[in-house]
Amino acid sequence: MGAHILIVEDEEKLARFVELELEHEGYTVSKSLNGRDALAMILTGSYDLVLLDIMLPGLNGLEVLRRMQKEAREADTPPVILLTARDAVMDKVSGLDAGAVDYITKPFAIEELLARIRVALKLHGHGEPAGQQEEGICRWGKLILDDKRHQVKYDGAEVTVTNREFQMLKTLLENMDIVLSRDVLLEKVCGYHYVGETNVVDVYVRFLRAKIDEVYGVKMIQTVRGVGYVIKSGD
Ligand code: CA
Repeated sequence: MGAHILIVEDEEKLARFVELELEHEGYTVSKSLNGRDALAMILTGSYDLVLLDIMLPGLNGLEVLRRMQKEAREADTPPVILLTARDAVMDKVSGLDAGAVDYITKPFAIEELLARIRVALKLHGHGEPAGQQEEGICRWGKLILDDKRHQVKYDGAEVTVTNREFQMLKTLLENMDIVLSRDVLLEKVCGYHYVGETNVVDVYVRFLRAKIDEVYGVKMIQTVRGVGYVIKSGD
């Protein structure tokens, strides 16, 4: 059975649209149109993930998030992705500080929301099992990333990378076939204090391409225009 997702959104049309899309993807979906009901549902129910709008009547999303963290034991809190208005940078920062795992800015492409959901479920332990991968080892073709040794090798030869390049590569490899937005990569690699400075991500991608793609004649990190980057398993 798919993960159980709670949508908290007072715009009924948007909530319904997201509900249908998520059900189509195989998720089980519950909805709440206001913050107070949502908080009660989160504290008493068991959800794998919550999509939480910030601008809600009564109790706003940030308040729901704070109370949820305060009243639930930590182990019981589902990961939260915030739905925020464009340019509401303070909301994003406050939301991440309050424990949200990600945010997406409205209006959003449904594909991007679905990708964020897959990442959040995967990173927070409710996703598909990773298969028979050796622990801490990621592979792509002849490339091997060894997390424990903090080492990258291509066809047996060590590739010297900086810590941030390593984190970037690791994040992309661990989320193989999932397009990661610059914001998500930035948070993973630099921490969210760099919100908005997403061109930093492009710089690290360029460094990695210079060290791997250009040297070994491969096309590892793919650019998805307007969305972000992905490493595809089939390539
Ligand atoms: Ca709203």
